[in-house]
Amino acid sequence: MPRRKDAPYAKCSVKNCARDANKPGAARGFCPAHYRRWNLYGDPLGTKQKSPPQTEQWICDVALTYLGDDCLIWPFQRNVHGYGVIASERRPHIASRVICERAHGAPPDKAVHAAHSCNNGRLGCVNPRHLAWKTAAENERDKVAVGRDNAGSRHGMSKLTEDDVRTIRNRKDVSAEEMAFRFNVSKWAIFDIRSGRRWGHIA
Ligand SMILES: [Zn+2]
Ligand SMILES: [Zn+2]
Repeated sequence: MPRRKDAPYAKCSVKNCARDANKPGAARGFCPAHYRRWNLYGDPLGTKQKSPPQTEQWICDVALTYLGDDCLIWPFQRNVHGYGVIASERRPHIASRVICERAHGAPPDKAVHAAHSCNNGRLGCVNPRHLAWKTAAENERDKVAVGRDNAGSRHGMSKLTEDDVRTIRNRKDVSAEEMAFRFNVSKWAIFDIRSGRRWGHIA
């Protein structure tokens, strides 16, 4: 950006910032970038969220170096579907997509899903070894719809896959209420699945 004709260079008042505080867009002794932050957050060094550095550190120190075969659950914010999210100024990023990209490289195109081989995306799993880029068709093919014998039941159980049923049974550390919320079925459906009254044929 060209400097104002009448204004000589002035150093931004933020320590270690050598940008020009006389540029268009600059004010209050700050360069344009620091003035913008001051304007938004009341602090030239302010940021909206404190969590991104924290999530970034967890991604580097924990997720990308994780060697376990079990699900690694995102310990931060989750969205209404249960997926981990990374807060950002514009809109939240889905944590499993970000970690899939960091671990396996950029998605081949924007439409691909960060698919979970464990099917536990809704429980917030971000284990890089459970994640792979898949097209929507590939992702669907991996899901075997079950419960046709119960199609149209009041529990809406036909929405669950065999893997969902296994997750509900095996993850006893997750309460029935939480499972009901994650899979969008009634709490009673969860009890029935856990007791084997429903889908007893699925090991
Ligand atoms: Zn500055
Ligand atoms: Zn997993």
